[in-house]
Amino acid sequence: MAEIRIEHVTKIYPGRVKALNDISLTIADGEFMVLLGPSGCGKTTLLRMIAGFEQPDSGAIWIDGRDVTDVPPRRRGLAMVFQSYALFPHLKVFDNIAFGLRMHGKPTEELRSRVSEAAELMEISPFLERYPTQLSGGQRQRVAVARALAMDASVILMDEPLSNLDALLRLNMRAELKRLLNQVSATTVYVTHDQVEALSMGDRTAIMRNGEILQVDEPMTVYDRPSDPFVAGFIGNPPMNLLEGRMSSDGVEVDGHPFELPAQEGFQPGDPVLVGVRAENMELMPGSTPDALNGRVLVVEPLGSFQLVTLAVGKQRLKVSAPVHAKFDAGQEVRIRVMPGSLRLLRPATNRQPARP
Ligand code: ATP
Repeated sequence: MAEIRIEHVTKIYPGRVKALNDISLTIADGEFMVLLGPSGCGKTTLLRMIAGFEQPDSGAIWIDGRDVTDVPPRRRGLAMVFQSYALFPHLKVFDNIAFGLRMHGKPTEELRSRVSEAAELMEISPFLERYPTQLSGGQRQRVAVARALAMDASVILMDEPLSNLDALLRLNMRAELKRLLNQVSATTVYVTHDQVEALSMGDRTAIMRNGEILQVDEPMTVYDRPSDPFVAGFIGNPPMNLLEGRMSSDGVEVDGHPFELPAQEGFQPGDPVLVGVRAENMELMPGSTPDALNGRVLVVEPLGSFQLVTLAVGKQRLKVSAPVHAKFDAGQEVRIRVMPGSLRLLRPATNRQPARP
């Protein structure tokens, strides 16, 4: 049982940088939690705080029902994979994997069997006698993960472990890592700024910005029902379209076109609103009509399995996925049909400044 509970944690670095601003998050036993956000949002700081390499200025961290806020890293029962892999160049792969076990004084037999088990799982058994410099980036990456797995820790922390790999290797390792971490029962916290990794790997994703968590949900909920315009604009490729609209008595109006919606809690007729809609939830038909939401084609980008059509809707821009065989030309007038139930209403962003104490 290794639940991680982060309670009202704040961290202010010298220079008055509020890296974490009153963060609270509970990660369930065995859960795979992804921390996602742009550079500088505080992901690494939060991970290092769980590991014990940083101390919070206020708040507490609990692991497995124990307040570990003042417990040093080596007594927290966790394994960590760094972005840089942090392998020892003068040690062979075997000894790199065994390093943490030796530090914990494990008997030789147990150490051998744990190393070979982890190496087998990561498919690096043939490389145990090599030095890290004699391995490819992907193999080194796997050694770093094997070292963490060999520890048999109840918590595994990973900081951008795939960021040094080329695109193809990254794609393969993503699936491999997910498969492996499903096999071990550890609670995993995984830091990335790559939204594809976050969507594809995690049980849940926490989206961070400016030292705060904006939303914590299952990946498809974050994708389909973002709670905040920043989340909508950060997740998905293309990101969710956000059109300016205004609430009406029975729905919402966008560029003079009404959409009927069930009553929306917290919104009053006349309120300005951002109307979110995913590119794949719209359909384009040639020719404009007065009773439709109309647009003018600006650009058509063929992207292999679909084409991305950028439209002007009044003064606003909209991206719509269209089937590859559909024929649209720049300048063409089109009607936009929105799939029922796919509009998401969001409050316009307040211009939040980076967190300061
Ligand atoms: P990245 O994706 O670029 O690694 P991140 O989300 O992991 O970014 P952090 O490394 O947690 O971000 O940094 C959060 C904020 O704290 C940033 O503004 C950073 O400049 C600042 N920061 C981090 N470490 C220190 C430090 N030791 N001293 C002062 N400021 C720091």
